Amino acid sequence: MLKPDDVVAMAVSGGKDSLSLLHIMVKIEKNFPEARMCAVTVDEGIRGYRDEAMKLAVKNCQKLGVEHKVVSFKEMYGYRLDELVDIIQKKEEKDLTPCSYCGVLRRRALNSVAREIEADNLATAHNLDDETQTILLNIIHGDALRIARVKPVLSASHPKLVQRIKPFCEVPEREIALYAHLKKIRFQGIPCPYAQTALRNDIRSMLNTMEQKHTGAKFTILRSIERIRPALEAMGEEEKLRNCRLCGETTIGEVCKPCQMLQRLGVL
Ligand code: SF4
Ligand code: ZN
Repeated sequence: MLKPDDVVAMAVSGGKDSLSLLHIMVKIEKNFPEARMCAVTVDEGIRGYRDEAMKLAVKNCQKLGVEHKVVSFKEMYGYRLDELVDIIQKKEEKDLTPCSYCGVLRRRALNSVAREIEADNLATAHNLDDETQTILLNIIHGDALRIARVKPVLSASHPKLVQRIKPFCEVPEREIALYAHLKKIRFQGIPCPYAQTALRNDIRSMLNTMEQKHTGAKFTILRSIERIRPALEAMGEEEKLRNCRLCGETTIGEVCKPCQMLQRLGVL
């Protein structure tokens, strides 16, 4: 995934996965003096949740001597996620969820910071559980071709995009939790107040039950997708990216997804 002189931007939320990955990456990086690492934390603006995580992210970066950048939804989009959620709830439209907004806006924010620091890679701590959940989510949403994008390295298809890598994508969540406990890494304990709304939660429970009864089920799902990915990629049309007419970022259509979502709430 990495070259000896890469500049790596690392998404650090303050949870166990990203802090464990940060500790491991710092350890590896010590052997590569030409490489550079910078942690990036996105403050979505979730009261009573992000504050604790932010402190832990800052503390860990200081302790490990890692450069750290923080970017907030408020400064990038003019609104905290809490404020957007208020508007979403008033709209009473079922397909709008806090997580759908949060995910799209955070991805954009992370890419912007990674590009700013001229990173070669943007590393995220998605684990085996996240990856298998995303695969099933795509199936349930009827978005089968998107499964092809669930992969360890998602190369940059446009100069404005930074290549994304997932070094933990084959590591089960429980093993990362064990690592964090063994290394005495302090991570955020409380769950996001909006997490309950996600279909992802139902899929997580289902996969955990499956894994308990049929050990290896999650790995098998990942391996199966690896085998059919070339066929999925061949079926999908190559996405021609251009600049969004509103913000100038990359998009397939005329207006990018973050702008579309903000427009739908009437805040852009
Ligand atoms: Fe954002 Fe949803 Fe994760 Fe909360 S659970 S941080 S709203 S994606
Ligand atoms: Zn846009």
